Amino acid sequence: AERPYIVGNWKMNGTRAMLSEARAIDRAAQRYMKAEVAVAPPYTLIHAVHREAEQIGVGAQDVFPGEDGAHTGDISASMIADAGAKFVILGHSERRADHKETNKLINAKIDSALDAGLRIILCCGETLKVREAGEAEEFVLKQLKASLPQIDDAAERLTVAYEPVWAIGTGKTATPKDIEAMHKAIRQLLDETYGEETSAEVRILYGGSVKPDNAREILSIPEVGGALVGGASLSAESFLGIVVAA
Ligand code: 13P
Repeated sequence: AERPYIVGNWKMNGTRAMLSEARAIDRAAQRYMKAEVAVAPPYTLIHAVHREAEQIGVGAQDVFPGEDGAHTGDISASMIADAGAKFVILGHSERRADHKETNKLINAKIDSALDAGLRIILCCGETLKVREAGEAEEFVLKQLKASLPQIDDAAERLTVAYEPVWAIGTGKTATPKDIEAMHKAIRQLLDETYGEETSAEVRILYGGSVKPDNAREILSIPEVGGALVGGASLSAESFLGIVVAA
């Protein structure tokens, strides 16, 4: 695909005080067009960030798997789209862990998101135990096979994010060799699933302790089409340090 895609996942962080960071990110992204930049704030800030955003994309971190109706405390895909979200992050390891999300539930969320016209960032990644057992590729491909949507417009709608669970928020990153091997394995699965032409348009992001000082190395690895950034996306300064490394 064309430009690297740098996405900030704010997770459960951010009050209205963060809007100035969003504005700074947006203004910088307007001047720096080499990367496609987006942020996924918590639900409470989606609309406000959307109003600041002239250049960057805005997304959500979750969605309810169903239509609007009697589901106290939940938020539907059409509601987040109405608030200004263009994409949603699904399958994140923190939701798989915190909320026991299964592939079945994730698939229902994917369907709801796609029905509402949203793009999806589908996350996958192995735990340290799985990596140490030498089963990382097998595990990740199985996760993806269970959830890759059968759609004709994957080129426009789908991004995959490989996030080794043990690298999230730990300061540890996978080695460039391991990242390249995993991204190539994922690419092969995308080729088989969507055909090479469509697959070539689907970016595979790396996530897990991406920081300004390691971004250039990570983003230069073959098949790494961008980054999904947690902690370092919470300040405009560090997030933009990653954007300009792309
Ligand atoms: P960190 O960048 O904080 O390691 O988080 C990565 C992540 O989980 C992004 O979705």
